[in-house]
Amino acid sequence: MAEPAVPPGGRIPASARPLFERLALIGTGLIGSSIARAARAQQLVGSIVATARSAPTRRRVMELGLADQVVDSNAAAVAGADLVIVCIPVGQCGAAAGEFGPHLAPGAIVSDVGSVKAQVVRDMAPHLPPGVHFVPAHPVAGTEQSGPDAGFAELFTGRWCILTPPPGEEEAARRLAEFWRGLGAKVDFMSPEHHDLVLAVTSHLPHLIAYTIVGTADDLAAVTRSEVLQYSAGGFRDFTRIAASDPTMWRDVFLANRTGVLEMLGRFNRDLAGLVRAIEAGDGDALFERFARTRAIRRGIIELGQDSAAADFGRRHAALPPPIPLPRPYSSEDD
Ligand code: NAP
Repeated sequence: MAEPAVPPGGRIPASARPLFERLALIGTGLIGSSIARAARAQQLVGSIVATARSAPTRRRVMELGLADQVVDSNAAAVAGADLVIVCIPVGQCGAAAGEFGPHLAPGAIVSDVGSVKAQVVRDMAPHLPPGVHFVPAHPVAGTEQSGPDAGFAELFTGRWCILTPPPGEEEAARRLAEFWRGLGAKVDFMSPEHHDLVLAVTSHLPHLIAYTIVGTADDLAAVTRSEVLQYSAGGFRDFTRIAASDPTMWRDVFLANRTGVLEMLGRFNRDLAGLVRAIEAGDGDALFERFARTRAIRRGIIELGQDSAAADFGRRHAALPPPIPLPRPYSSEDD
């Protein structure tokens, strides 16, 4: 059920806004604060009430003006909200739902943004009362940074948001999809299990590999490690960005998506063993064939508009120092 990108809020007429009267954000870090910023900018909600686990984060949310109201408990946050979005590490979602479940308004839509879906559904659903609509979601957008200062309104623009509604929740899913389109995202629908398999290979496994390779470099003898840091302008530098991602969030992702990750890891290990055999045997054709295929995948991602075509991800390079005048007879003054 794919669809083309639309500009943020592009399809929602002014007369239809706000889409929801009161948005409750449980957790206001990178993702929650980005939702708050974009929903405000696009006038998708009448008001926002937010909470976080710690007093310093709640204070910061207030200072940044991300919400109309900041409260100190998950139960207080959902009172009177017609849309509740849980934006906390996936391992915490069940306990949070247990706290706010009894306080939900009848007819409210409850969603989340967790990077794993099947486990979150299993953990949250039992705590939600009848008459409340549960539509899990995962915006496939993020950075390696955390906290309310890290968010920005454009985070979801042109990115996919995958919804995994249970049967019978078509109307609630349609309303939530409209909200995500208003934030600038493209929306797709999947079962929770299929989502977890797809994300295991596109997101979870790459993070596991990055955590491994950066950890391996760190375990090297001290002298080599300093060289690794010094010469990290190559591929290693891109792994360090991914491996800087929040440890709590990613611990929870691997524990919650054990099945999907282990299946993809098994395939990865078989493929890696194949490359090891090709290198041992000096089989250049096998290596070339594999590398040509992977290069085509990068081209496909760029053609789909999911990344920049600019070399080195469009990073700026330091300017050269001003040119030193050439000595005669090469100087242009001789022309
Ligand atoms: P984050 O920046 O670390 O923010 C997490 C927020 O949750 C903080 O405000 C934290 O409060 C709060 N929190 C934690 N436990 C809580 C609880 N029990 N009750 C209430 N608030 C609680 O994390 P994030 O990157 O936004 O990730 C949030 C979710 O989005 C995760 O499930 C993750 O899988 C998913 N996701 C992340 C990305 C990404 O790239 N980061 C992308 C897509 C989806 P304190 O600061 O006080 O601890």
